[in-house]
Amino acid sequence: MNSNNTKQPSKFTRFLRNNAALLLLIFCVLAITAVVLAVTLSKNEPVVPDDPVAGKPEEDKPSDADKPNQPTTQKVNVYFASPLQYTGVGMEYTFGPDNIMVYSQTLEHWLTHKAVDLKAEAGTAVCAMFDGTVTKATQSYGTGYYVTIDHGDNVVATYQSLADLIVKEGDVVKKGDVIGYVSDSAEYEFMDGPHLHLEVTVNKEYVDPMPYVNGEKYRTVEVAV
Ligand SMILES: [Zn+2]
Repeated sequence: MNSNNTKQPSKFTRFLRNNAALLLLIFCVLAITAVVLAVTLSKNEPVVPDDPVAGKPEEDKPSDADKPNQPTTQKVNVYFASPLQYTGVGMEYTFGPDNIMVYSQTLEHWLTHKAVDLKAEAGTAVCAMFDGTVTKATQSYGTGYYVTIDHGDNVVATYQSLADLIVKEGDVVKKGDVIGYVSDSAEYEFMDGPHLHLEVTVNKEYVDPMPYVNGEKYRTVEVAV
């Protein structure tokens, strides 16, 4: 029994001894594989988080930097608009250095016309060409009912030969607001039929109203974005 007991461990020991080189080789292969895997994984891992980390600040920084530079207002050009849908031009603007005369059918003589007559059917709406404040709303024999509007920046327009007064002095009007209706109330121009007699002054000097009527004149204003 004793000899058997001592023989079996000695067999196992002999097996270990005979195969030690093989076992060592297997162990070494496993160890090398483990090291290679560990190195590979440790190399790959930082690459993945690096990209988003490197990318995010670049994307964030410009948007943060842009915010303080973004303007809160912007400049826009607001154009004057025709005060009515007219069917034709009657007496033109003739005032100026050349002093050109135009014949008045009503007064039956030649005169300088410091306005433009815009023909339209009686009752056609007359609108403010631009924002402004009504500085006069009254009537006279020669001009009929008329409204003067200070459009700011020293531009003042007078809308004559209106059918009635629907605005009053001090009224604040917006561009496009109806301020009256076309009629033939201007006795001085009665023979010309229903029309709007439109005068425009800049710095109290008469100017040709047509560039305003045609929407060629504008004012640059700052508006909130
Ligand atoms: Zn006129």
